[in-house]
Amino acid sequence: MAETAVLTVNPEQPEPEKIRIAAKVLREGGLVAFPTETVYGLGANALDEAPVLRIFQVKNRPKDNPLIVHIANKDDVNLLAERVPSKARRLIDSFWPGPLTLLLPKSELVPAATTAGLATVAVRMPSHPIAQALISEADVPVAAPSANLAGRPSPTSAKHVLDDLSGRIEVVIDGGEVGYGVESTVLDMTVDPPVVLRPGPITVGELKEILGRVEIHPIARAEIPAEAVIAKAPGMRYRHYAPRAELVLVEGTPQQVVAKIKELRASYEQQGKKVGIMATVETAGEYGAEMVKVVGERKNLRTIAKGLFRTLREFDGEKVDVILAEGVEPTGIGLAIMNRLRKAAARVVRTE
Ligand code: AMP
Ligand code: MG
Repeated sequence: MAETAVLTVNPEQPEPEKIRIAAKVLREGGLVAFPTETVYGLGANALDEAPVLRIFQVKNRPKDNPLIVHIANKDDVNLLAERVPSKARRLIDSFWPGPLTLLLPKSELVPAATTAGLATVAVRMPSHPIAQALISEADVPVAAPSANLAGRPSPTSAKHVLDDLSGRIEVVIDGGEVGYGVESTVLDMTVDPPVVLRPGPITVGELKEILGRVEIHPIARAEIPAEAVIAKAPGMRYRHYAPRAELVLVEGTPQQVVAKIKELRASYEQQGKKVGIMATVETAGEYGAEMVKVVGERKNLRTIAKGLFRTLREFDGEKVDVILAEGVEPTGIGLAIMNRLRKAAARVVRTE
């Protein structure tokens, strides 16, 4: 196909004439990448099988990994889901629009391609003004996985989208950097108590405040290899988010982690490998100057979430062979960070 068109749009006040152009492409069966508050999504009309199948094709995404359907009005969940339990309604009232995806029994309207043949549908209402304007104007629910090649770190800028998908999709809306930097929390509402399948910006603590009991699927902690778990969310067993370099994740207290990373750096360098270190504001000074990138601040884990995928992509730009990444506390949004790092890692080193 022809070149991918880039539409630069104001993220606070999207220009209606530009949104109309992109919405028309969606309505006519094309693919449009757009910013959300989590990461950039690759959108298609969720009710039309052909463009949905093209999403899988251009991303090289396994066909059994279902897509999240994005809506612009809370009420549209009633069209996509056969029923919406009262607990789900309470969550919708508290967290939509926002980075929470709910798994519900699907209605007949949703084609099998969108849900990868499952009887459930994943639905979310994003809060990003561009996402909202685009979905409203298209006037169809929009299926949108992250706008990266399958297995790569999710895109947090339009440049990342173009690096992976240029020439493969019709339009990218450039609305600048995204806010959270990690994908939405995915919560299975077809079971009671509800189960977190993927941790994200809406934390387990926040969900418990509304629901009382919430369970965390082992796959969401990602402490054991995903292949060992019978996946409720089939896509979650695939290796994800990975940079080209070999990612080695080091877990433990900050002091233990720093000491272990220094040791690992020495041994990889002895093997002639180019090593990058993904450090934090609090620890970066410990390593000396070479190829150390600061992902964010330990005392504000949101900054680490926001910098995570961008930093992994930057290391690829530097052509390092190995990335030694510091683990963080798996609490709050830290659980989402550790889920992504554990899934991206070729090797996890626990110092405790
Ligand atoms: P992505 O949009 O690429 O971040 O991935 C969407 C995630 O939502 C994947 O991990 C899917 O496995 C999950 N998901 C979407 N729809 C469903 C569904 N019907 N059942 C279980 N998981 C789902
Ligand atoms: Mg993805």
